[in-house]
Amino acid sequence: MHTDPLIQFWIAMFNDYGWFLLIPLLEQLRPARKQPLFRPGLISDIVHTYQPLALHPFLLSGLVYLLVPVSGDGPWQNGLAGQPMWAQFIALALFSEITFYFVHRLTHTNKYLWEFHRVHHSSAMLDSFSTSRFHLIDKAFFAAPYLACIAYFGATPEGVFVYSVFQGFMSRYGHSNINGPWFTGRLITTPHFHRWHHANAPEARNKNFSRDFVFMDYLFGTVYYPKGQVPSDFGEPSYSNNFFVQQWLPFVHLYRLIRKNPQGAPAASEQPQ
Ligand SMILES: [Zn+2]
Ligand SMILES: [Zn+2]
Repeated sequence: MHTDPLIQFWIAMFNDYGWFLLIPLLEQLRPARKQPLFRPGLISDIVHTYQPLALHPFLLSGLVYLLVPVSGDGPWQNGLAGQPMWAQFIALALFSEITFYFVHRLTHTNKYLWEFHRVHHSSAMLDSFSTSRFHLIDKAFFAAPYLACIAYFGATPEGVFVYSVFQGFMSRYGHSNINGPWFTGRLITTPHFHRWHHANAPEARNKNFSRDFVFMDYLFGTVYYPKGQVPSDFGEPSYSNNFFVQQWLPFVHLYRLIRKNPQGAPAASEQPQ
């Protein structure tokens, strides 16, 4: 993207702050349900979005990048380097959806990984600010395989940037409190669709793992998307809303899990939600 440095600067600013500010506006104009803007955990979720350790997952993912054989001659290696933007967009969407789906499923079914992903699911009230609530290890676990694909297939920085602006919107929109037509959730992750993933309802357990497009859930039979119903019971209201405690708590829970069951076989009552 050979654009003026000033335009590049404003696009980067928009990527960092645009969706973060615009989507809450849409939530106020067209809310799915009435809920307060200033809710418990809001400050912590803003800290999650802008804390400097947000770079940490990318450092970890850099390790994976080093593991990619950059000097080999695999048939698809650097295959994206000379491709037009639309082709890179489709490829990045596929990398993102496929890696996210399987990692996400694993974080729900493995009781140790669940303790880290549980931080994201602790939000008792969903809105666009809750998008960023993640444990750093969980975030790195999600990012690593996607970034490894980018490294191996040689997507250009411009292609990755354009896709990240799209994802910036989609992830905030998917968690937002915006009303919209039900059928759109057959294609993309809408607030209605992703709310079922966060719901405490037993019938929605381990469903709707998709990131931005929902085809992986349809392919692997993990869709739960009833028409005319919207869940309202989410997360764990008793979980800490403090950013630092949220980073620490999974280790406490892991320690207790290992002490209780040193052999590692999960008891039926301990299966993750
Ligand atoms: Zn999840
Ligand atoms: Zn979520």
